[in-house]
Order: sequence, then structure tokens, then C-alpha cells
Amino acid sequence: MRAITVHPQQPHSVELREVAEPARAQGALLVEALALGVCGTDREIIAGDYGEAPDGEPRLILGHESLGRVLEAPPDCGFARGDLVVGIVRHPDPVPCPACATGQWDMCRNGQYTEHGIKGLHGFGAQRWRIAPEYAVKVDAALGLNAVLMEPTSVVAKAWDHIQRLWRLAAAPPRRVLVTGAGPIGLLAALLGQQRGLDVHVYDHNKAGPKPGITAALGATYHCDGIEQLDTLAPDIIIECTGVPSVIATLLPQVAPDALICLTGVGASRRADFDIGLFNRNIVLNNGVVFGSVNANLQHYQMAADALARADPGWLARLITRRVPLDRYAEAFDGRKGDIKVVIEFE
Ligand code: BGC
Repeated sequence: MRAITVHPQQPHSVELREVAEPARAQGALLVEALALGVCGTDREIIAGDYGEAPDGEPRLILGHESLGRVLEAPPDCGFARGDLVVGIVRHPDPVPCPACATGQWDMCRNGQYTEHGIKGLHGFGAQRWRIAPEYAVKVDAALGLNAVLMEPTSVVAKAWDHIQRLWRLAAAPPRRVLVTGAGPIGLLAALLGQQRGLDVHVYDHNKAGPKPGITAALGATYHCDGIEQLDTLAPDIIIECTGVPSVIATLLPQVAPDALICLTGVGASRRADFDIGLFNRNIVLNNGVVFGSVNANLQHYQMAADALARADPGWLARLITRRVPLDRYAEAFDGRKGDIKVVIEFE
């Protein structure tokens, strides 16, 4: 079978190769790939900045945003041939740490977790892959290709879950959210904000292209005139999805009273002018919280499935701006103007 592989830490080693069928030891469910979403993490791995092959293997099969159809399932495992599934990215560490021991592998405390297509486990960018039933999530066939958005939605469902736990005023729920970055993570974070009934604002530097229209179709307000223009918006929640140091440096000191700032993006390590004294003063005097959020556990995939089921399918489909057949997989990683989510199709 064919798989998109890389030699981790070796820049631009990505190659579509013939590889062996997945071993039974990788899980009882055999799945045929339908689609694979591409994200910034894949590009970082291709650039040689990130990623780790399974123990003893030189190459890693890339891909963590999956959608597949079950080919083989053991009896009574909750899945049957023909079911559409998405694979959970992270597996708990083997120790396990107290977080992994209770199913919160997204909060792993010793860093020994593994991640499909990223860290120590082959990914879903192969014609067939295997997974244990407990790490597969059944998806509603009505979602069609939109189900490939499940993994990035699980990441924002986790961010919202933690935002809700960290909000400290039970009698005064948050009203306004600002999302920075209108990529897939940002727009899905905006969707979940809209589903929670918040006044949603989205900031992105793009003035043209699909992002302003997609934001407006959600009933949210689009801003593109410089992040510093938003200092009077006073959002209760900021979800930062650009990972751009200059955006973060401007946002952090703008914290409104009691606000939560959730950082989700990992950009390049670049320096930005940052007044730590002003940041400290504003965070203290406003009871601010800044926290980071990564990955998702099973509960968050279930929240993601609910969010996708409630969303307008036409709106979700607008997030998938480019589909590339497996033969031309390399085009999926080249990042073009107007791209939101690029998907590699296996059929
Ligand atoms: C994935 C997460 C993963 C993170 C760090 C992201 O692109 O969506 O599941 O935990 O990368 O490896």
C-alpha cells in the first residue's frame, strides 16, 4: 500500500512510498483511509523541525487528521465493517502518569505520550491503518467529508472545555469572545463560541479571500485592521490561534477585567517587542488568566462530534478550501493564498 512518509528531523524528506500493510499489533480495527486533513504541524514535521518515528524505524507515516471506513472489526467491539471513523491522535504514556491513568492523556505529565503521525506512532496518511477500538471515534455518515474536521474540532472543544472550567464568575457568564487567526482552528473556535451564544469576533490579517465571508456567515464580526485597533473591544475570552509573536505581544497586555486568554498556536520562535511590566500590571489589576491548550481526550472528540452535528454542513464545507488526490499529495503541503483546510483524498 502507499503512504506519505517522512524521515523525522530531516528537512524535506517527505515521500509517497510503498510500505507494508499495518501490523495487527497496531490495533484490531483495520480502516481504509478516505481523507486526511493537513495542518501546520505536518508542515513543521516536513520541514524537519518536529516529529519522531516509531521506535527502531527510520521513517514516520505522516498524518493525524483522519477520516476512514472500517474494513475489519472484531465482533462486539462497538464497530462494524462500513462504519466511518476518526482515529484519536494521542495515546497515554506507558507509566502511566496520573493524567494518562484517568484518560486525560491530553494533559500527560511526563511527556512520554505518543501521537499518531507526530510522535512515535505511525499516522493516518496511508491507504490502510489500524487502531484499537478504544482510540477510534465513530462519525455520523451524514457529515460526509466534513468529518475530517473532527480532529481540529476536538482541539478547540478541549480549549472551550478548559475555558469553561477556568471562568470564575458563575453568576456572570462570559459574553464576548475574540478569536485571533481565521485558519481552521480559529474558525472552529469561533463556531463553538457561536454555539455557546457568545458575541463572536474574529481577527485575521487577510482582507480578501474566503475568511471574511465565512466569519460573517457565522454571524460573527470580522476585523482585519491591526490587532492594536481592538483594545477597546474588551472580550471576556480571547482564543489565540495564530501563534504569531507580534500578535500575542499586542494581545496579552490588552486583557479585560476577569478575562481568560487561551493560547493554542505554536508559531516560529521569533522575538517581538513585549512590555513585561505592562503585561504584569494589567494581568494583576484585571484578575487575568493566560493559559495554553493542546490536544484532546476522548470526551473532547465526543464534544467535537456534537458540535459538528449541530453546525450548518454548508458552512463547514466552506472550511475545506482545497482537495488534493493522493497522487498529488505534495501540493497539499505547499500553503496557497486562500487556503483554510486542505484535504488529501484517498479515493
Ligand atoms: C495536533 C495535536 C497535537 C499537537 C502537538 C497538533 O497539530 O492537532 O493533536 O497534540 O499538534 O503535537
